[in-house]
Amino acid sequence: MKQDLQPEFYQATVTCNCGNTFTVGSTKKEIHVEICSKCHPFYTGQQKAASARGRIDRFNKKYGIKAEA
Ligand SMILES: [Zn+2]
Repeated sequence: MKQDLQPEFYQATVTCNCGNTFTVGSTKKEIHVEICSKCHPFYTGQQKAASARGRIDRFNKKYGIKAEA
């Protein structure tokens, strides 16, 4: 077994620019994001933040967060 190829898995603490924090499974212990579910336009209904949608979608995919349309 090559354990070097199996990085440790943490419950990473994600800190958003809006001040919200939550945890996700990750190989990193801490993650800093610019947008989260609380400031995502889908949840807030604010159109002006729509340009960040691609970023949050990629984030959700990366960390396996399911975002229902
Ligand atoms: Zn946020």
